[in-house]
Amino acid sequence: MMLTRLGSLNALEQTHKSSFWRRWLEGDLPSADTVGRVCQLIDVQTIRDVHHELYTRLKRAKALMPAAHGLIMAVIDAHESHATYRRCCDGCLQRTIHLKEGDRIQYYHRTVTLQLTGADWSLLLDAEPIRPGEDEIAAALRLFDRVVDRYPRAFDVVAGDGLYARSDFFNHVRSRGKHVLAVLKDEQRDLLKDARSLCEHNPPIVKQMDRGCRQCWDFEGFTTWPQCQYPVRVVRSLETRQICRQLTGETEELVSDWLWVTTLPKERAPTGVVVQLGHGRWTIENQGFNETTNRWHGDHVYRHHENAILAFWLLTMLACNLFMVFYRRNLKDAVRGAYDMLQIGRMMTAELYQGLLIQPRGP
Ligand SMILES: [Zn+2]
Repeated sequence: MMLTRLGSLNALEQTHKSSFWRRWLEGDLPSADTVGRVCQLIDVQTIRDVHHELYTRLKRAKALMPAAHGLIMAVIDAHESHATYRRCCDGCLQRTIHLKEGDRIQYYHRTVTLQLTGADWSLLLDAEPIRPGEDEIAAALRLFDRVVDRYPRAFDVVAGDGLYARSDFFNHVRSRGKHVLAVLKDEQRDLLKDARSLCEHNPPIVKQMDRGCRQCWDFEGFTTWPQCQYPVRVVRSLETRQICRQLTGETEELVSDWLWVTTLPKERAPTGVVVQLGHGRWTIENQGFNETTNRWHGDHVYRHHENAILAFWLLTMLACNLFMVFYRRNLKDAVRGAYDMLQIGRMMTAELYQGLLIQPRGP
């Protein structure tokens, strides 16, 4: 169901007569209700074990190489799958929504996901739900600890958005031998003020890029973050790009100003590498959540139950990983040149339905 992106247990059930299943199952395809119930009761660790097996095989096949700088990044971010006023379960988070007709309690689920990013690949590795009463960092630390225990050498640096620029997160990650990189935001006012003032008084390193330029500042040894037990480094990248508006043909200048705080020392990651890693953090948005939501029904609630939601999400991640690695590594260049990912995905779905069409007539 996940790999063929059917997006519903009922759609799956309706394929039960397909000859496709006889090649894969020893018995009949379970009903929609059974699949839902199994996912509600399943030990999600068993799905995580399959993720681990896939990872191990890919690693052995040298499919998980770092980029030229030699670092593999683990990007952590949270994603809200759905929100409802009507139904809640034990794992639901709650918030009050102010409406014209009065306040209403809204229920929702948020899951923190970890994605590995390397040379030309990314892999959705594990996920952890945010429990009622705790914040995102608490769930992220639980996830991080489990991943470090299970995959001790899978990555070198953990990256997160502005929320992760917190001393408790930095201290914990560093204490387990990994480096951290996070977007620097207003919440770390002293650190930000210090960094901005240093930028004003020091000339940038200027790098010409295609249709623009990048001005970078890189300062080490900040101690203006007293709760952090490790000295941190701040890298700023002020990027100017000329783009040509298709509609009017006019050239417009786009400016973006990025600041990151990291524990990575300069000898391990020069300025350009920190900028590259900082921008690479977006893969979890683009190739992670956008891809799974828009193309893999990642936000669909197959069964509203805490364990089922996590189980279905882990299965979606697994299907997405398998598909991506199949497309990139199994298919020949000529096939990839002729068909894009979406088309290959449709062919897989077609195979499932093809088995229905050639069934003998009958009830
Ligand atoms: Zn719920």
